[in-house]
Amino acid sequence: MSTKRALQTEILQYRNAERLFRLGARVPIVAEMTHLSSWFLRKLSLEIRGEAPRKGQIPNSDQWYLRRQNHLQASLFCAIYDSVKRVACDEADECALLVSAYSELARALEAAGMTLLMSVDRAWWLLKSLQIRNLQRARCRVCGARYLQPWGKLERNFLCGDCRSQGYTLAGGRSPRRVARGAGHERA
Ligand SMILES: [Zn+2]
Repeated sequence: MSTKRALQTEILQYRNAERLFRLGARVPIVAEMTHLSSWFLRKLSLEIRGEAPRKGQIPNSDQWYLRRQNHLQASLFCAIYDSVKRVACDEADECALLVSAYSELARALEAAGMTLLMSVDRAWWLLKSLQIRNLQRARCRVCGARYLQPWGKLERNFLCGDCRSQGYTLAGGRSPRRVARGAGHERA
């Protein structure tokens, strides 16, 4: 790697670390994503947040993402991450994608008047859980949205909680939404 390129990479890593800390990320996660030293990152964290970095275990439970409200937010985060990745330039690294997707999730929830439940650390672990196949995403056969599921659970014939609560069933085939859209001559 040329010196200039190495320098650019290093500057990018510092910038990424700063962005992650501003979103509340913990030192071990920032260290893994940026490859900067933990010693340096603890100092940077202190400088940015004005308090000592949090200690304790980093999140590593897949079950957290499957609980009701968390499930919605985590599934939404994945959808946002996909769209951010689609429009990102080829050089965008994983860290930049995480920062953009998480910031967008926070903005979307704020605009909807909802409380953000998922920390950026959990968003990081979520991407990892999908990578290592602890979790997968299943597409709802009615609304087409993709939701998180434990790995190995059947993906076909998935019906999301929202559609279920609107009276859709897997067995019936006919859906209230189609009727409402005026699929015409169908008799209820
Ligand atoms: Zn659905």
